[in-house]
Amino acid sequence: MIVVFLGPPGSGKGTQADILHEQHGFFHFDTGSRLRAEIASGSELGARIEQYTNAGKLVPIDIIREMIKRFFSASDAGRIMFDGFPRNLEQARVLDESLLEHNVKLDCAIYLEIDEDSLLNRIVNRRFCPQCGDIYNLQSNPPRQAGVCDKDGAALIQRQDDTAEVFGTRLTVYLHETMPVLEHYRKQGLLNTIDGDFDIGEVSKAIVELLGV
Ligand code: ADP
Ligand code: ADP
Repeated sequence: MIVVFLGPPGSGKGTQADILHEQHGFFHFDTGSRLRAEIASGSELGARIEQYTNAGKLVPIDIIREMIKRFFSASDAGRIMFDGFPRNLEQARVLDESLLEHNVKLDCAIYLEIDEDSLLNRIVNRRFCPQCGDIYNLQSNPPRQAGVCDKDGAALIQRQDDTAEVFGTRLTVYLHETMPVLEHYRKQGLLNTIDGDFDIGEVSKAIVELLGV
């Protein structure tokens, strides 16, 4: 089963994809984390990527195309969850082509719809574990011990782009570039909308019901 997660920054894509990974064996393909790992490696490519992520802009298509190509040539996962990709129509076409080339089909695109006013609050209160990638929220999903990952005890950190200023650009990019992707999947009869305003458990229940996993 292949699923795409769509929604604005902070809508809960990563959180829900992690749950599907842990409880339902989905492979979680997350472009944002892969890009951050490249930046952390200190490579030249990472330095190029950082200019875009720090500004809240989409990284160029050649970088994303290469990432997708590598993923498909190495992957034999039965259940795949794409989180943070595709982010514009050009990327949606790259995914369509890759699926066709590998003789597999997209089963479902899930749009996490959420009240825009709650997004900034979620973003500035987001923290994550640099070791295992687990996502927390100081208000809605705090760790048991302040500042420390429940799973491995690592010190939680805040993403460099999770500021009010960069969030503004990310939301604008989402509205202009990613929203048309919803229409792309609606036309294919694959788009399903889930209300992302409920708490994490309720949203997860709705997704699991929709996918029938
Ligand atoms: P995205 O991947 O779409 O940017 P995340 O999954 O990282 O979103 O969630 C953004 C922030 O909101 C995180 O701090 C997360 O813990 C929190 N969060 C996720 N889902 C919910 C929810 N349903 N209700 C409240 N907070 C949530
Ligand atoms: P969010 O949790 O807000 O949805 P992500 O972790 O998915 O954020 O992405 C963080 C940043 O990484 C984006 O603002 C963008 O700069 C870059 N990025 C992530 N995925 C893509 C993609 N598919 N195409 C281009 N840039 C991307």
